Amino acid sequence: MLNVALFGPPGAGKGTQSEFLINKYNLFYISTGELLRKEMANNTKLGKDAKGYISSGQLVSDEIIVQIIEKTIKENPNSNGFLFDGFPRTYVQAYILQGLMIKLHTSLSCLVSIHVPEELSVERLLRRGENSGRLDDNDTVIRQRLKEYYNKTLPVLKFYQDKGIFYEVDGTKDVNDVTVEIEKVIESILSKRLFNILLFGYPGSGRGHHGKALVEKFGLEYIATGRILEHEVLENTAIGKQIKSAYEEGELVPDEIVVEIIEQTLDRSNNKTGFIFKGFPRTLVQSYILDGLLQKLDTTISKVINLEVPPLDLILRLNERGTSGKKLPYDTSVAQIVRRLKEHESKTVPVLEKYKQAQGIVTIDALGSFEEVFSKVSDEVELGMKNYR
Ligand code: AMP
Repeated sequence: MLNVALFGPPGAGKGTQSEFLINKYNLFYISTGELLRKEMANNTKLGKDAKGYISSGQLVSDEIIVQIIEKTIKENPNSNGFLFDGFPRTYVQAYILQGLMIKLHTSLSCLVSIHVPEELSVERLLRRGENSGRLDDNDTVIRQRLKEYYNKTLPVLKFYQDKGIFYEVDGTKDVNDVTVEIEKVIESILSKRLFNILLFGYPGSGRGHHGKALVEKFGLEYIATGRILEHEVLENTAIGKQIKSAYEEGELVPDEIVVEIIEQTLDRSNNKTGFIFKGFPRTLVQSYILDGLLQKLDTTISKVINLEVPPLDLILRLNERGTSGKKLPYDTSVAQIVRRLKEHESKTVPVLEKYKQAQGIVTIDALGSFEEVFSKVSDEVELGMKNYR
C-alpha cells in the first residue's frame, strides 16, 4: 500500500494537490476537514460537537478525529492506499495514525510537507473565502487557524523527521510545479519498494518450479528455506552442524536457526526488486517472525499466492517424483507422502487462513501444464507489481 500524508498550513494547497494524487495512484482520500464539514452539513452529533471549534479556528478534539476516521475507514476502501489531508495535526494524532496503520497491516509511506510562508497562506485563504462559503475563511479565524498550526501542528514534523519519512516541497511555486515536485517524491519512494511474494501450496503443487521461474522472470530473490538449510549442511558450517543433528533426530529445525539464516540471507541481499518466499512461513509462529523480519527491512508482504492441486493428484505427483531422480526424503512411500501432506494441512493451512483474513490471497488452479499454470501465476505477479509501483 502507498499511504501518504499531506502536510502544510491552511492554504498551502493540500486539497488541490490531493486531486492529482488520488487519481494518479488510486488512493482513498481522507480529509478530516472535509469529513467534519460533511458532519456539520448533516447536523450530526459529531458535526454539532465540532462546529464551535471550527468556527473559531481551533482544532477539534482528538476524540472527534478518531471517531470520524474510524467511521470512514470502516465504510470503505478497496484502494491502493490512503491519502491523508489535514491529519495528523497534533503529536497525539501522529500516534493515532501509527495505530491505525498497524490495524490495517500497513504503514505510512511518507509525509509530504507543502511549505508556504504565513503571509501567503493568509492571502490565499482570504481569496478563497470570497467564494468558498466556509465559515472559517475570514481574517480573524484564519489568523487563529494559523496560530493553531504553528503551535500544535508544526511539532508533528519532528515525529516524521525522526522516522525518516519526511519530505518537503516548495508550495510557493505554480500549482503544476508543486505537483511535479510531489510526484518526484512519491516516485522515488515507489522505486525503492520491494515486492515480496509468499508462495504457498501443498508439497507437489509446483511451488519450487514456479518460484524459480518467477525469480528468472521478475528479478526477485528466491528464499527457499529448505534449500538454504541444505546448503548450510553441505558447507558444514556451525549452523549446518546443528541443522544436521536436528535432521538426524527427526526433529524440525528450531525457529532460532531458521530466523538466523533468513535474517542473514536478507541482510546479505542487495536485491532491489523483492523476495519470494517458499517453504516459509510454515507455522503461525513463523508468520509472525516473517512480519518482524520484513518490518526490519521497512517492507511488507505484497502478494500471497496459493497453488491449488487436488489431494489425489498431489499423491500421484509426489509418488512419481519418488521414483525419479528428483526424489526427496519424504516421497519414498505413499504412507510418508500422506503423512507429509497431513502435517502440511495441520501446520501451514492455518497460516494461509491468517493471510486470507489479513490481506487476501490469490488461489491459482495449479493442475494444468507448467506453462499454463505459470502464465496465470506470472499474470498475477505482473498485475500486483503494476498496481504497487
Ligand atoms: P481544513 O479543511 O483541513 O482546513 O480543516 C478545517 C478545520 O477543521 C480546522 O481548522 C479544524 O478546526 C478542523 N480540523 C480538521 N482536521 C483536523 C484535525 N486532524 N484535528 C483537529 N481539527 C481538525
